[in-house]
Amino acid sequence: MAMSILQCISHSPTEVNIEVALQPSPSILSLMPKCTSLRELKQIQAYTIKTHLHNTHTVLTKLINFCTSNPTTASMDHAHQIFDQIPHPDIILFNTMARGYARFDDPLRAILLFCQVLFSGLLPDDYTFSSLFKACARLKALQEGKQLHCLAFKLGVSGNMYVCPTLINMYTACNDMDAARRVFDKIDEPCVVAYNAIITSCARSSQPNEALALFRELQESGLKPTDVTMLVALSSCALLGALDLGKWIHEYVKKNGFDQYVKVNTALIDMYAKCGSLEDAVSVFREMPRRDTQAWSAMIVGYATHGHGSQALSMLEEMKKAKVQPDEISFLGILYACSHNGLVEEGYDHFYSMIHEYGIVPSIKHYGCMVDLLGRAGRLEEAYKFIDELPIKPTPILWRTLLSSCSSHGNVEMAKQVIERIFELDDSHGGDYVILSNLCARNGRWDDVNYLRKTMADKGAMKVPGCSSIEVNNVVHEFFAGDGVRSTSTVLHRALDELVKELKLAGYVPDTSLVFYADIEDEEKEIVLRYHSEKLAITYGLLNTPPGTTIRVVKNLRVCVDCHNAAKFISLIFGRQIILRDVQRFHHFKDGKCSCGDYW
Ligand code: ZN
Ligand code: ZN
Repeated sequence: MAMSILQCISHSPTEVNIEVALQPSPSILSLMPKCTSLRELKQIQAYTIKTHLHNTHTVLTKLINFCTSNPTTASMDHAHQIFDQIPHPDIILFNTMARGYARFDDPLRAILLFCQVLFSGLLPDDYTFSSLFKACARLKALQEGKQLHCLAFKLGVSGNMYVCPTLINMYTACNDMDAARRVFDKIDEPCVVAYNAIITSCARSSQPNEALALFRELQESGLKPTDVTMLVALSSCALLGALDLGKWIHEYVKKNGFDQYVKVNTALIDMYAKCGSLEDAVSVFREMPRRDTQAWSAMIVGYATHGHGSQALSMLEEMKKAKVQPDEISFLGILYACSHNGLVEEGYDHFYSMIHEYGIVPSIKHYGCMVDLLGRAGRLEEAYKFIDELPIKPTPILWRTLLSSCSSHGNVEMAKQVIERIFELDDSHGGDYVILSNLCARNGRWDDVNYLRKTMADKGAMKVPGCSSIEVNNVVHEFFAGDGVRSTSTVLHRALDELVKELKLAGYVPDTSLVFYADIEDEEKEIVLRYHSEKLAITYGLLNTPPGTTIRVVKNLRVCVDCHNAAKFISLIFGRQIILRDVQRFHHFKDGKCSCGDYW
C-alpha cells in the first residue's frame, strides 16, 4: 500500500504552473482518504513539503482532519504539531482539534484548547460546543459543563440540534438527570438524536418507565427510531420485566429491518431472558445470522440465571467450537451457572482457565461468583479465606455474598465474623443488620436481635425498600413494601387479605420471625409481612389477568422466605405459573414448587 501511494504521487503532474502551485493538487487531497496508516499520511505530508504546498490552508486542514478522525491514521500528537505551525488558526481548525481530543484519549485538552479560542477572539460555534460537551461528559466535569452551557446560551447556540443531544449526554454522564430533562423539554421539535439521548438518560438513571414513555412519544411524533433507540427501549423492557412490550418491540424490530444488527439481536436475547421467557431468547439466538461474543455471552447468562447450568456450560463449548472468544461476561455466566448448580470443582477450573488461557483479569464480580460458589456449597471457611487472600481490596458486597450464605446455612458464628468485616468497610447498610437479625431470630437469639436493632437505629442505617413490578396490558405497575400499612386499604389490599386467608387454609403459615422489629405484636408483624411488595404485585396479577396466565414479577431485592413460600402456595391453589425475578435469579413457581429448589 505504501508503494502504491508513492507511485500515485509520482504520477501527479510535475510541470506545474504558478496557479497550481498555490493550490494543492486535487490528486494529493484525494489520496489522503486512501491512507491506511499514519506512516502513509506522513509520506503525503512530506510530498507537500517538497512541493511547497504544506502551508496551504486546505492541505493543513485536511491533514489535521485525517489525524483526528480516521481511526487508522489517528494521532492527536501529530495533529497538534501541524496545528502549532498555523499562525492564525480559524474556528474550523479549532473545532477539528477539539473534536479529536474529545473523541480520543485526551478530553481535558479539548477544554484547554478552548481557552485559546477565547483568547484569540474567535467566536465559538455549534460544532465547538458539541465537542466541548462531549469532552465534559467524558471527564464528568459538571461545573465546566454548566459554564459552557451558559456561554452557549448567551451565544444563542444552546438550542441547536447538534448541541442539544451532546448537552443531554453531558448532564447524563454527570448524573444530573433533571438538567438533562430540562434541556430536552426546551427543544421545540426534538430530532431522533435528542430523543435517543434523553431515552438513554432515563434508562441509565433507573427510570425505565419514563424511557419507554419517551419511546412511545418518539414514535407518535412520526420520527423514525434508530438502532440506538431500539437498544435502549429493549434494555428498559429488560429492567422492568415488561415482556409484552418487549415482544411488541421485537415485532417492530423485524418489520423495520433492525434485526440485521447483531447488537439489537443481543439486546433482544437479554430482554427475553430478563423478562423470564428463555424460549424466546433461545429462538432469537438460533435465528441470528451472525453471532459475536456479546450475543453468546447474553445466551450463557440467560441460561445461567434461569437455572439451566448445564446448557450454559455446553453453550461455552459451542462458542469455543465456533471460534468465538469468550469474554469476562461469558465467564460471569459460567461461574454463576456453576455456583447455582453446586459445581464447585468445575467452577474453579473455569475460573483458572479464564485467567490463564484467556488472559482475563478477574473483576470483583468474578470473585463474587467464586465466593457465592463456595458459600452455597457450604464451604464457608474456604470462602472466608478466599476473600481474605484476594489480590485486591474486598468490597462490602463481596462480604455480603458470604453473609447470605452464612444465613442460608444457619451459621450464626461465621455470620458475626463476616458482619464485623463488613462494618469495617460500611456500617450504613440496613440490609446487613436485617440478614443477621433474621438469622439470630430463627435461632431464638433474641438478645442479639435486640442489640442489632438498637445498633442499626443508632447508626441511622437504612434498609432499601422492597419494590416489585408487574406488567399488565402494556403498563408496568410498581408496588413498594408496606404500601398497605401506610396508605388506606384499597381493593388490592382487601384482596390480599382474602388471599392470605385462603393460603392459610391450604397450610401456609406466615413466617413472622423474619420481621425485624421484635417489639411489635405478632398480628402486626403478620401485616408487615403480608404487604411485602412481591405479594402485592402477585395479587395484582391474579386480579387483573385471565385465569391460567403466567404472572411475571420483578423485584429489586432478594425474595424473602415468606413471599417465596406464599408464591408456591399461590401457584398450587390458583393453577398459575409465577415467574419472579429477584436481584439474584429467576424463580419459576409451578404446582407448589420452585425451580430454585428453595435454595437461592
Ligand atoms: Zn417478602
Ligand atoms: Zn425459588
